Amino acid sequence: MTNMTGIFIFSEDRALAKQLLTPALELKQALGQPVTALALDGEAAAELAGHGADKVLVLQSASGWVEGLGDAVAGLVGEASVILIGGTQRGKHLAAHVAARLDAGLTTDAKSLKIEAGKLVASRILYAGLAVCEEEQSFPAVATVPARTFPAPAAAAAAGTVESVPTAADGRIAVTGVTPVDKSGVDISSANKLVSVGRGFRSKDDLHLAVELAGKLKGEVSCTRGIAEDEHWLPIERYIGISGQIVKPDLYLAVGLSGQVQHMVGARESKIIVAINSDERAPIFEAADYGIVGDLYAVLPLLTAAINA
Ligand SMILES: Cc1cc2nc3c(=O)[nH]c(=O)nc-3n(C[C@H](O)[C@H](O)[C@H](O)COP(=O)(O)OP(=O)(O)OC[C@H]3O[C@@H](n4cnc5c(N)ncnc54)[C@H](O)[C@@H]3O)c2cc1C
Repeated sequence: MTNMTGIFIFSEDRALAKQLLTPALELKQALGQPVTALALDGEAAAELAGHGADKVLVLQSASGWVEGLGDAVAGLVGEASVILIGGTQRGKHLAAHVAARLDAGLTTDAKSLKIEAGKLVASRILYAGLAVCEEEQSFPAVATVPARTFPAPAAAAAAGTVESVPTAADGRIAVTGVTPVDKSGVDISSANKLVSVGRGFRSKDDLHLAVELAGKLKGEVSCTRGIAEDEHWLPIERYIGISGQIVKPDLYLAVGLSGQVQHMVGARESKIIVAINSDERAPIFEAADYGIVGDLYAVLPLLTAAINA
């Protein structure tokens, strides 16, 4: 199963794998090469085959060890032009391993991908969002793409083929068990509405104002780094920004937070940003679609009551 050409995609995260099909299908147009998806089970394979992959290879007995999985992926992609990998923490680790195995270049956190003069040109954000750079790679080119950068494509008119492929297991290291990190159980990055709190809140007890509003909106509460890392009022997986989570909800309600660039890098791709801040010169108002200059202690109860009504 080597010497295949084309565009390959892989992510262990099923939603992200589907999203990778969107840029892969655009690259297919430019290169005139097929899109092959790699999957770990038949269910994931069927979903990818139904959403535009020309072919899906199901890796049998894939290693849970990233280096082992990386060897298997590198072995299957043969003479690929472009390999897109889901930009999760494990995905980035995997991508580095695959790129090293193929002696290929690697762009991480690609925001856009195109073909120019026979090369992959990927853009990524630099300096906490102050600049966007374009990286050019000859083939084979590897790139990781963060979750929710692209929407998943619609179902395809005709399904691609699905094939099982044996993968050579490396017996030197075996994963004997996996213990998930004990999180609060909330995946902020997949929430559609976020009420995000900052140091404008005077105490942890006051956060109930945000929790109530988030509940009414059927959303979640997120925060700035100071609220999670300095005050420890919320778990660290709830903070947004360059060193926290990158989110892209439909609604981002920024309450009592100043909107510093390190925070906004994680939130600025939200569809609608609404800011509530008592300081009319706060930078958050530059990023916001709608702004309320006011005391959050007065505004939040009014908003919650308005939604109740
Ligand atoms: C290397 C580095 C990485 C960083 N990474 C991150 C990151 O990933 N995420 C992150 O969030 N930060 C990060 N930071 C910190 C970041 O620079 C800001 O300091 C932080 O985001 C500010 O948090 P804040 O908005 O909660 O607090 P502040 O900047 O103190 O803002 C509080 C805001 O609340 C308003 N306010 C006060 N009282 C009220 C009231 N009653 N009603 C309404 N508004 C009120 C104020 O006007 C003010 O605008 C990083 C910093 C560095 C140096």
